[in-house]
Amino acid sequence: MAGAAPARSALIVLAHPERSSFNFAMQEAAAEALRKAGWRVALSDLYAQKFDAVLSRADVTGAPKDPDRFNYVAEAGLAWKEGRLRSDIVAEQKKLEAADLVIFQFPVQWFGVPAILKGWFERVLTSGFAYSYSAMYEQGPFQKKKALLSFTTGGMGSMYTPEGINGDINILLWPIQSGTLHFCGFQVLEPQIAFSIGHTPPDARSQILEGWKKRLATIWEEKPLRFVPNSSFDMSFAGGFVLKKEVQEQQKEKKYGLAVGQHLGKPLPPDSQVKAQQA
Ligand code: FAD
Repeated sequence: MAGAAPARSALIVLAHPERSSFNFAMQEAAAEALRKAGWRVALSDLYAQKFDAVLSRADVTGAPKDPDRFNYVAEAGLAWKEGRLRSDIVAEQKKLEAADLVIFQFPVQWFGVPAILKGWFERVLTSGFAYSYSAMYEQGPFQKKKALLSFTTGGMGSMYTPEGINGDINILLWPIQSGTLHFCGFQVLEPQIAFSIGHTPPDARSQILEGWKKRLATIWEEKPLRFVPNSSFDMSFAGGFVLKKEVQEQQKEKKYGLAVGQHLGKPLPPDSQVKAQQA
């Protein structure tokens, strides 16, 4: 049919061991809503797959370049180039390559992603395949892809505010959304957060699932979160990859820092890791 847009593909990476969990329900809701909107949907159910979360020499098949001093980043990068990565990594990389949108569904554990998902980041996001120092952040390999964290917490939303006992959720999100996803080039969409899900009444839980499905119907149209563009930095080893002098000068009178990471010693920009800001 002339003019029909090809279906987009989504990958849902689920990191929860229980089928009766709210995280599993969020994954099912996402798959249903995306399929209804015409998406192809693939799933990496990490516990069901018994995904190996521990990187090791065994990730590289064939002889290592330097068996006396095995450098994981270098050896895995070379193995990726030469098609010598272990098959479970290759399978995940193929799914990732095929995806326009990647949704990570998980419960927050110790202020981060569950170990099995951290292991997926460590083993699947191989050097060369997912990132390189010559093309990082918005120039990264996945710059045409969008990614989104959908997660539940034990703690209440108020606990994750700048005044709350757990501290600002923006700080928790920075290493995952900036240091991992955006570093590989992903455009990062606003996270879908279900705070204190264990203490949320059943009606409200159903509403969260319905709201999630509604959001997914038009997810591709969403504006991504804003990160400081590479052009603001001196992108050289000599310059140390720091903000250009003129950018620092322009920021002097501003009330907030530029980003959670580039806070410039000022208050963090509110909601910068939670809400897409206007440019
Ligand atoms: P569940 O308990 O499975 O679900 C919540 C409720 O939803 C249940 O009543 C369930 O029956 C119900 N439900 C399931 N399916 C549906 C459906 N289809 N419709 C409606 N209701 C449904 N929390 C923090 O805030 N910070 C931390 O640092 C942190 N660290 C942790 C570390 C570890 C090791 C662990 C195990 C937990 C930690 N937690 C932390 C808590 C964790 O984030 C929560 O336990 C988790 O987010 C709850 O999500 P769940 O899917 O397991 O909820």
